[in-house]
Parts: sequence; structure tokens; C-alpha cells
Amino acid sequence: MSILIKLYNWYICVIKNNMLNLILFGKPGSGKGTQASLIKNKYNLVHISTGDVFRKNMSNKTDLGMLAKGYMEKGELVPDEVTVNMLKEELEDHLPCEGFIFDGFPRTTYQAEKLDVLLSKYSLNIHLTVALDVDNGTLIERLLNRGKSSGRADDQSEDKINIRLQEYDKKTKPLIEFYTKQNKYKSINGMGDLDDITTRIVNLLDNYLNDRG
Ligand code: ADP
Repeated sequence: MSILIKLYNWYICVIKNNMLNLILFGKPGSGKGTQASLIKNKYNLVHISTGDVFRKNMSNKTDLGMLAKGYMEKGELVPDEVTVNMLKEELEDHLPCEGFIFDGFPRTTYQAEKLDVLLSKYSLNIHLTVALDVDNGTLIERLLNRGKSSGRADDQSEDKINIRLQEYDKKTKPLIEFYTKQNKYKSINGMGDLDDITTRIVNLLDNYLNDRG
């Protein structure tokens, strides 16, 4: 798409206030990345996965990648400052656009607050946080399977997966209240057939967009 068309689309979005900025939320292995890839084209959204950006930096052996590697391999979160700076660059690189799907970000209250500040600089805001609910037994099974096919270091053992689930409970779960208070939190059943889960997300988004008018 030419830059002029992009600028025009963005201008229309801002004027009509019809951008769609989504957070796909959920525990590790809940399917955020998979579902983001399936819905981004339908709504013309830019998908930003902080995990993917870290992994790209790791394979390119950048300073950021080397720093993140230690945390990721242990199953811990990368420090907030580092993650927020990276997200800021990613976001600014993709503006103008018609909206974002944030996948794996924010994962702490600090990150969520910084995201609001960053978006407000561009007169933007988060519209919806869509959580994929999956039980822990299913998550562990999915992640161990992904570990076998992808070789991802953090998916190799149940111990590491448990550390990630504990990180979620301690640092990420409080965001449910953060977005519920703003009336932006919706959850769907993230178990079962892949296409059924996509349909649940699409129905939720279409209802939201219809109500918004
Ligand atoms: P999953 O959600 O399946 O764990 P991700 O690719 O989203 O996979 O994340 C992998 C790892 O990358 C996390 O365990 C963490 O170490 C790091 N990471 C990703 N996003 C963030 C974030 N927002 N804050 C801190 N660390 C992050």
C-alpha cells in the first residue's frame, strides 16, 4: 500500500475515531499469537508480538536479544523498561495504521500504564482486551508440544512452563482488574477447535464495532 493511501486511511480513522486497538490477553500457550495471525487481515491490523520481536533480536544477536535471552530461557519476564522501549519503537515504526493487535504486551501494570501514555501521545487508546481462557493442564500440554516442533527453549520442560505460569499469576493477572475497571475486558473460551475460537473472537469484535457504530 502506498504511503499516501496509508496516510489517508489513518487520517480517516483518526477523524472518525474508528481505529481498533486490541490486546490479546491470556496465559502462555493460550493461543494469542495463533489467533492474532488469523484475525489481523480481517480488520487490517498491525500485529505486534513482543515475544516474536525478542526472538528476532535473539537470532540476530543484538544487544537487546542477548539481554532478553537470559530472562526468556528461565521463563521470567524481561525487565519492564527494556520491554517498554522496544514496544515504543515497534509502535512508532508502524504508524500510521488502522489499528494494532498487541500480543504478549502489556504483561505488567507498569507496562499497561506506559502503553496508555504512549498511545495518548498519538491521540490513540486501547479499545478492547480479549482474553483467551484455557485451563493449565491444556496449556502445559500445548506448550510441551510446541517445544518439540519449534525447539523453543522456554517450552522444553514443565518446570520452565510452571515458572511462566507463576510469572503470569504474580505480574500479569492484575491486568484483568486494570482493564475490567475501564470496561475493556472481555474473555472467551480459548479451548477447542481453532476455527471455533477465531469465530468467537470475530463475533465479539463485530459486536463491539456494531455497537460503536
Ligand atoms: P508465551 O506467551 O507463549 O509465553 P511469548 O512469545 O509471548 O510466549 O513470550 C515469551 C517470553 O518472552 C516471555 O516468557 C518473556 O520472557 C518474554 N516476553 C514477551 N513479552 C514480554 C513482556 N511484555 N514483558 C516482559 N517479557 C516479555
